[in-house]
Amino acid sequence: MADAELMVWIDQDLCTGDGICSEIAPDVFQERSDGVWVVKEIASHWGADLVFDGEQAPDGSRGVARVPAAVLGEVVEAAEECPGECIMIEPFDQATFDKRS
Ligand code: SF4
Repeated sequence: MADAELMVWIDQDLCTGDGICSEIAPDVFQERSDGVWVVKEIASHWGADLVFDGEQAPDGSRGVARVPAAVLGEVVEAAEECPGECIMIEPFDQATFDKRS
């Protein structure tokens, strides 16, 4: 399994639902059924699929997905382009990672 240097989460309260993030970085962002976007980890990067949608895994600030190195540039670009300014990128932190479940 790959190591992560960064983690990412979305503040769903600020998400405008335009979908720019998943157009830029489809491996990390996806739409939820209520029209806001969430982060995810997919099997091709992490060995298992996990969606931080508030059901399968926490959403908001506790729903912190690891950023695959291969798409790090895309995730940074998505955060820069996000009109809601609600894509939060943080350094990987083991304690935060352990609190996800
Ligand atoms: S780019 Fe930002 S505001 Fe737009 S859907 Fe993604 S998280 Fe929400």
